Amino acid sequence: QYARLVEIVGQHDLGVGITLGAHQSIGFKGLLLYGTPAQKKKYLPRLATGETVAAFCLTEPGSGSDAASIRTRAQPSPCGTFYTLDGSKIWISNGGLAEIFTVFAKTPLRDEGTGETKEKITAFIVERGFGGVTHGAPEKKMGIRASNTAEVHFEGVRVPAENVLGVPGGGFKVAMNILNNGRFGMAAAMAGTMRGVLAKAVSTHRSPMTPRPL
Ligand SMILES: Cc1cc2nc3c(=O)[nH]c(=O)nc-3n(C[C@H](O)[C@H](O)[C@H](O)COP(=O)(O)OP(=O)(O)OC[C@H]3O[C@@H](n4cnc5c(N)ncnc54)[C@H](O)[C@@H]3O)c2cc1C
Repeated sequence: QYARLVEIVGQHDLGVGITLGAHQSIGFKGLLLYGTPAQKKKYLPRLATGETVAAFCLTEPGSGSDAASIRTRAQPSPCGTFYTLDGSKIWISNGGLAEIFTVFAKTPLRDEGTGETKEKITAFIVERGFGGVTHGAPEKKMGIRASNTAEVHFEGVRVPAENVLGVPGGGFKVAMNILNNGRFGMAAAMAGTMRGVLAKAVSTHRSPMTPRPL
């Protein structure tokens, strides 16, 4: 149903399709896939109505396709009740509009077997209202200009431990499963866009003002 909807949206304006997809297909998809009942109850109603907009924050200046190399970090507090999030993300769709962010950051995790501490990716639900969340100017893109793409910065953001999405250290899997969904929606929107441009090209070709090719 979602694919059919974004296909129609993409046929008219892919920028609007990207805005929708960034919100629903990746922005809050993590809540649907991994959210606890309490997280869903708290965030989903306002996201579903569109009162609040969501964004998905994975890409960084030094980390694109190689998502495992992100440098954004979330340090757990000694009391274990919150994390302090620091880092910058780039190319974030809805980055300038969103109030709810699915953010991926490295966290230290102790292996109980070996006693070693390793940095692993953890996913978080971050509210702009937590403080310390800022964004850059909208990127000037060649197309899809109706969609907002911006840098998002996190500086000393205090994220409650109950806002971990999935399990600590399980963030890479969370990201990949969200992206599987996002790619499906993206393909549907693009199919609509291609249908739209083909229809336009054909109708221009058939216009009585356009001489028919020999
Ligand atoms: C309009 C727009 C919106 C975006 N929205 C979001 C968003 O909402 N949230 C978000 O987190 N990110 C977003 N992104 C970022 C997007 O996910 C990244 O651009 C993407 O992951 C690729 O990363 P990169 O640009 O750093 O390219 P790179 O990873 O540097 O790749 C550059 C080129 O190298 C190729 N390449 C990379 N690795 C390999 C390899 N191992 N073998 C062979 N070839 C390889 C790639 O295919 C590509 O052609 C957005 C980007 C754009 C342009």
